[in-house]
Amino acid sequence: MSTPQTPPNTGPHDGPAGYPYEAPHSQELFERASVVTPGGVNSPVRAFRAVGGTPRFMVSGTGPYLTDADGREYVDLVCSWGPMILGHAHPAVIDAVQQAVSRGTSFGTPGQGEVELGEEIVARIAPVEQVRLVSSGTEATMSAIRLARGFTGRAKIVKFAGCYHGHVDALLAAAGSGVATFGLPDTPGVTGAQAGDTIVLPYNDLDAVRAAFAAHPGEIACVITEASPGNMGVVPPLPGFNRGLAEICRADGALFISDEVMTGFRVSKAGWYGLEAAHEGWVPDLLTFGKVMGGGFPAAAFGGRADVMAHLAPAGPVYQAGTLSGNPVATAAGLAQLRHCTDEVYATVDRVAGQVSGLVSEALAKEGVAHRLQKAGNMFSVFFTEEQVTDYDAARRQQAYRFNGFFHSMLSQGVYLPPSAFESWFVSSAHDERAIERIAAALPAAARAAAEATEETK
Ligand SMILES: *Cc1c(COP(=O)(O)O)cnc(C)c1O
Repeated sequence: MSTPQTPPNTGPHDGPAGYPYEAPHSQELFERASVVTPGGVNSPVRAFRAVGGTPRFMVSGTGPYLTDADGREYVDLVCSWGPMILGHAHPAVIDAVQQAVSRGTSFGTPGQGEVELGEEIVARIAPVEQVRLVSSGTEATMSAIRLARGFTGRAKIVKFAGCYHGHVDALLAAAGSGVATFGLPDTPGVTGAQAGDTIVLPYNDLDAVRAAFAAHPGEIACVITEASPGNMGVVPPLPGFNRGLAEICRADGALFISDEVMTGFRVSKAGWYGLEAAHEGWVPDLLTFGKVMGGGFPAAAFGGRADVMAHLAPAGPVYQAGTLSGNPVATAAGLAQLRHCTDEVYATVDRVAGQVSGLVSEALAKEGVAHRLQKAGNMFSVFFTEEQVTDYDAARRQQAYRFNGFFHSMLSQGVYLPPSAFESWFVSSAHDERAIERIAAALPAAARAAAEATEETK
């Protein structure tokens, strides 16, 4: 085992009791950020609110490592929440970006990069006959839902509790416990009218879906689901669930939208579609993409059936647009990244995910910590519970306080995990033996911290 190159932790406490480490530069940046930005961050989970302590302000990334403002290096198990599948600053991606930038950064006209990225996506995923590029996953799901409503002439949509589809008004409604909840927005600022047509159901529950369609025949425009959820921790679809959704939608004339923003181009060349649907013989009507396809830049997409996509402006009446859609730098980054995501890369990412998740499970088992490691291809997460987690209610029954101790121990030893017990972990093809050894070296103490955690140390 190599020795972690992180400095020893001797500074003042900035995390929960028992996890001392210093991060004075991050702390200073966080204080400045908190003056000019609500909560000091531009996306909530970055603020470490769930785990406590000072968020690390990163200044650079290379391969599997991130370096923070205090010069500490971390093995990165977040990978920008999925996009950095080749690791940070991959030479081919950086080179493509530099070349694109030198030709100008935005034209407000069509360009060749968009055509090539569109062709790459269509070539990889059979049910995507046409694709429209946007700048974020949120835009992709928002536009797909508008298109589904425009195409079907229906208002209602079905989503599942615990599935995140970006901060789209109509999709920021989540369920109460286990029972279908009709249109209760779960954030101020989303009106009853915006969420009132959203039917929220428990994940993996086909009976609930059948009941919703029986209650609203001919009124539901679409069912949207994460292809394999990663935003409540990793909760894969039970066998037959996605197929069932596709069949129920087809029978009623609703569209089935598979949100592959997280899984797309990550769990296989053709995303979750490639892992599951391609073998089972069902197809989503629309799919949404983001994260990996942008190569670390804001590029996302939605696509699917040509007859549905034909309803989009300017071919059809459903309006959708974007000043920076198909941006030449973003498309160059995405294209370079996708072209380097070879079978070999996916094999490596799968192997690394297997190794890391195996080490985590082993370390926790050794300390007698009740846990459940859940996987979906190369995405995985740990639930601190003994039960199999098949929906959001089960995910929330875990002992999340154990994760906080685990997280801060790993952080103090130079391993950067998602700062929440309800997120997928991500690895890259750049996670080599040295990175894995550093994770392995940090795990025994982290597992002990998880074992010793109590509700109060939260
Ligand atoms: C990240 C994510 C989104 C939102 O994408 P943004 O680019 O953050 O707007 C939508 N759906 C899923 C499944 C995601 O994981």
